[in-house]
Order: sequence, then C-alpha cells, then structure tokens
Amino acid sequence: VVDRGDSVRAEAKAWIEENWDPQISVREWLERLADSGWASPTWPTEWYGKGLSNAELAGAYEEFRTLGAPGPPAGLSRMLAAPTIIAHGTDEQKRRYVRSILVGEESWCQLFSEPGAGSDLASLQTKAIRDGDEWVITGQKVWTSGAHTADLGMLIARTNPDAPKHKGISYFAFEMDQPGRVEIRPLKQITGAAHFAEVFFDEARVPHEAIIGGENEGWGVALTTLANERVGLGGGAVSGFLFTAPGGTRAKEQLEQSVGEMVERYRKSPSTFIAANAGAARATLSPKRLIEFAKENGRNTDPHIRQRLVGLYTLSELSRMNALRAKAAVAAGQRPGPEVSIGKLMISRITRATRDTATAIAGAASMLDGPESPLDGAVTQQFLGSPAPSIYGGSDEIQKNIVGERVLGLPKEPDVSRDVPFRDLKVGTQR
Ligand SMILES: Cc1cc2nc3c(=O)[nH]c(=O)nc-3n(C[C@H](O)[C@H](O)[C@H](O)COP(=O)(O)OP(=O)(O)OC[C@H]3O[C@@H](n4cnc5c(N)ncnc54)[C@H](O)[C@@H]3O)c2cc1C
Repeated sequence: VVDRGDSVRAEAKAWIEENWDPQISVREWLERLADSGWASPTWPTEWYGKGLSNAELAGAYEEFRTLGAPGPPAGLSRMLAAPTIIAHGTDEQKRRYVRSILVGEESWCQLFSEPGAGSDLASLQTKAIRDGDEWVITGQKVWTSGAHTADLGMLIARTNPDAPKHKGISYFAFEMDQPGRVEIRPLKQITGAAHFAEVFFDEARVPHEAIIGGENEGWGVALTTLANERVGLGGGAVSGFLFTAPGGTRAKEQLEQSVGEMVERYRKSPSTFIAANAGAARATLSPKRLIEFAKENGRNTDPHIRQRLVGLYTLSELSRMNALRAKAAVAAGQRPGPEVSIGKLMISRITRATRDTATAIAGAASMLDGPESPLDGAVTQQFLGSPAPSIYGGSDEIQKNIVGERVLGLPKEPDVSRDVPFRDLKVGTQR
C-alpha cells in the first residue's frame, strides 16, 4: 500500500500541476475534479472515482490539502445520496444524479426522520399513493438537515400500509421545489444557525421513475444510506481537501466566481466562509490544533490541560485505528461491522472531550463567537454543537444496542410489531 501510495501521490501532484488554475471558475474546477476521478477517488472508476482506498490515498490527500483548493461539496449529497444511488440505482439514475452532486449542481437532504419515527424509523407514516406515472406524497418529516437549501431529498415513504412496517416502504429521489405542496420550516438551534427544518408534504409529486431500488424495497436502500451515515460519522469519511465548495442551485453564483477568489475568502476567515456557505464543511478541532492552541495561550504547562490533551489524543488515535479496521474490512470485500458503531460512539466521546479541552484552554473567552474570538469562533461552535453527534445518524443508545446484539451476541430487542401489517400498528399518530 505504501509503494502504491507513493505513485498515487505522484499522480495527484502531476494532475494538480496540470489542472490547478486560480483563474478558472469554481464550477470548472469541480468539473475537472469530478471527471478525473479526484473528487471522490474511493468511488468505482466507472462512476467518477478511481477505485482507490483511503490508505492508498493518504499522500495524495496531503497534496490536495497543501494546495488549499476547495473539494466537491460535502454533506449528505456526497456522503449518503451518491453512494446509495451508486449501490441501488439504475445506470440512468447514476448518470442523472451522481455527477451533478460532485460538480455542485444539485444538493440533497435526507427525508427520513419523522415526529413519530426516529430510532424506530420503520414506523414512518409519510404516505405515497400511486397516481398513474407519479406518486402523491403526504406527511411530515423533521430534523431535515439542509432542507431549505436542498434541490432533492432522499425520501422514504410508505407505499404499502398492508405490508409489515419494513416491507411497504419505497425510497424516492424527491424534487424539493414544489411551492404549495412542500413547506419547509427551519428550526433554529442553540448555535444560532438553522441547519435543519421541518418539512411538510401536501400532495407533493414524484415520478415513478424516481424510485431508487424498486417499489416497496426502500428499507434495504435506506439501510445502505444509514450504513454510509455510520461509516461517515464514525470516522470513515475522509475528505482530501482543506475545505469544500458550496453546492446546489442556491450556490450557483458562487460557483461562477474564480476558484482563486474562493480560496482567498476562505483563508481570510474560515468561520465566516463556513457560516455563509450552506453545504460547505470544515473538520472539527483536531487534537493537534488544540495542542497548538494550548501553546499559543501558554496553557501547555498546566498539568490538567496536558492530561486532557493526552486523553483526547489517545481517543482520537483509537478512533483512527478503529476506522482503519473498518476500511480494511471493506477492502477485504466484507461489510464494515461493529467498527462503525464503535466509531460513531467514539465520535460522540471525542466531541465532548474536544469541547471540554478547548473550553478549559480558552477559559471565559469560550463564550465569545465570531472572527476575533478564540480559534475564529470554533471553540464556541464546538461547545454549543457538541450534543448533536450523540443524536444524529442513530443515537448513542441505538449504537450500543447494535454493539450489544451484533458484537456481544446478546438477545435481540423484542419487536412484536415486525410481522404485523403496518396499518394495524399503534405507532406515531395511528391509534
Ligand atoms: C443535528 C441533527 C441533524 C439531523 N439530521 C437529520 C436529517 O438530515 N435527516 C433525518 O432524517 N434525520 C435527521 N436527524 C434525526 C436523527 O436521526 C434522530 O433525531 C435520531 O435518529 C433519534 O430519533 P428521535 O429524535 O426521534 O429520538 P427517539 O427515537 O424518540 O429517541 C428518544 C430517546 O430514546 C432513546 N431510545 C429510542 N429507542 C431506543 C431503544 N430501542 N433502546 C434504547 N434507547 C432508545 C434514544 O436513544 C433517545 O435518547 C438529525 C438529528 C440531529 C440531532
């Protein structure tokens, strides 16, 4: 892998020399990345990737980070929608949806959770009724991250209420722009941002051909999305780029500016850039950055801070090694198993430990936000946003259930509703 890594790195370097031009538009830069396979090099070669492993790519990623140029839009489009469509979509669907994600043309949100269906997702009540070549959607989703900026949604809805709850669900590529039929109400969070929303469907429409993976087969497709979510959130997702470009119709103007200009804007104030760009993302504070932060503030000699830093560093290293195990399993042709649930649980712990360490170093200044606050606002944002990872993508308790059942072999949680027709269940608002 190391030898191969060296040649992959050399390939990346040569490609950058030939293709990096700060004068071209962000759109053109993203197109060059997508069409060369460098946008998402772990994907299959026939679908915009290079079929390489993250281990082989480590050096190449360093080249891209040093370059400081933006990568393809991050977030749910690339982490969830694209790999799900690559796994279950028809070739036509792959051509229609996957490249547009990488070049920033369209962004996606995940229309899964409902007020009565989160951990028990298969109890969802949003219904889809066939009407000729279309399906008519009525119901409500909640917690939908990025709904207000998304062009499309990964929608799971009930297409057969007579079947047991896991068997009557279909997975749709759903167009969000349906005035009067789709209402999006943003929910404001403690961080001050409104990253997620409630979404109401009132006889919204979706063509039959937009079903991914077959009618009533949506649960299996959703499991692929959820598995990618666990891998992504559990430390398996690696972006080779320092930051990512915004994506989707609403970022259209920004994609037309020169890529050099975007790099300058990001460099000037990463937090302002991230706050202004839906769909753009930056890694959370790393232990390495916090060690530097402690030095900059003269706190690196405080034994309590040192203890916290060592603890955080150790946890992060364990998490990194755990993620390598998950990737090795994939490379060996197996499905990643318990590693991803353990990885996701570790991210919850690391997030809390990062919060506690960063605020211990910054002291009272942790309460400040904005460009002149500690680490450009990142300490405060880390602090306020820290509860999220233990809820999204399956709560800590659910991950522990998975570890209990699949790793420790404990008895499965009883579910008497498994074989009962959905319409006879007392779930959500069904009474
Ligand atoms: C920041 C953020 C972003 C999100 N983004 C999205 C998104 O884009 N799209 C989307 O569809 N959803 C999204 N979610 C929703 C998320 O997936 C759900 O919140 C999560 O699955 C939990 O579901 P719930 O909120 O309904 O809680 P519930 O399922 O009602 O759980 C409540 C509590 O009970 C516990 N619990 C439930 N069942 C069990 C059990 N069987 N055993 C032990 N404990 C149990 C849970 O751990 C939790 O503590 C997001 C959530 C957050 C916080």
